Amino acid sequence: MSLVTTYCSQCFTRNRLPVEKADSNAKCGRCRHALFEQTPVAGRQASFDALIQSDIPVVVDFWASWCGPCLQFAPVFQEVARELEPRLRFVKLDTEQEAAIAGRYGIRSIPTLMVFQRGEILAQRSGSLPKSLFKEWLLSFTSPVK
Ligand SMILES: [Zn+2]
Repeated sequence: MSLVTTYCSQCFTRNRLPVEKADSNAKCGRCRHALFEQTPVAGRQASFDALIQSDIPVVVDFWASWCGPCLQFAPVFQEVARELEPRLRFVKLDTEQEAAIAGRYGIRSIPTLMVFQRGEILAQRSGSLPKSLFKEWLLSFTSPVK
């Protein structure tokens, strides 16, 4: 039986569960909330490292409220989260509120999209993109968890 570790959308506690149970019915072992809410969660200083330690790849949208392209891209990110979670997880990181994290990853232009798995960066790209291309890019990271 292969197990995956990922965070709860509600309380951010890391949960470990059999890979075949990692679906929209999964519940958090701690708060009993749905583990996968199919919506992005807000990354914060206190929780960010726990979020990106997931075995399931985590897509982070580094954005800011003053950035027009970021705001235009937000609904795309939201829709794709609904369609692809729990195959991937989705986090939004406000680069003004959480400047320390943005600094750690050297974010220079926004939006920047980064894909993490077990704390490591798998891929990154700058600039928004159409939904179809965004999904196509993400689907390359959904290989079965080893
Ligand atoms: Zn929970």
